[in-house]
Amino acid sequence: MIEDYKKILDEGARKAPFTLKFFKWVKKNKPKDLDVIVSQLHAEVFEEIDCLKCANCCASLGPRVSDRDIDKIATHLRIKPSTVSEKYLKIDEDNDFVFSSMPCPFLTADNYCHIYPSRPKACAEYPHTDRRRFIQLLDLTNKNAQTCPAVCLIIDKLANHYKYKTT
Ligand code: SF4
Ligand code: SF4
Repeated sequence: MIEDYKKILDEGARKAPFTLKFFKWVKKNKPKDLDVIVSQLHAEVFEEIDCLKCANCCASLGPRVSDRDIDKIATHLRIKPSTVSEKYLKIDEDNDFVFSSMPCPFLTADNYCHIYPSRPKACAEYPHTDRRRFIQLLDLTNKNAQTCPAVCLIIDKLANHYKYKTT
């Protein structure tokens, strides 16, 4: 991850207590335009953040891999689904398949995803800041701010939008 993104994460960590208060405010006030605004901010932030200069999610988080994901990966790699699970997956404490090692075995040295068109749904949806009913994802978003610089920026911009002071 480039230094600029590390600084954004550090700043996000510094603001974590304020973010918690802001999200409590959001839960209480339930702004009607929340989904529209978050989706706009998501698009705006990902215009400036380049995931290929980051890859922190692929390096540190273990996404859940569903049976459907396994089938897709197997087709992509032209191997059997059982070989995918044997070679690349393990069962975690919640009884879900996750990658057996992190950084993800499909993350390449130049931060590309080797199975990008067939990556797990959880990878494709990360960091979930353009999902509907965002109000249900505030706790997850707070957690993702520890990993994803884009999430930190989206939270900042969201607080600015509602004129909520987070510093
Ligand atoms: S989604 Fe977030 S954590 Fe993942 S590579 Fe992009 S900016 Fe980094
Ligand atoms: S499958 Fe691809 S997108 Fe998902 S964690 Fe691995 S490298 Fe990242």
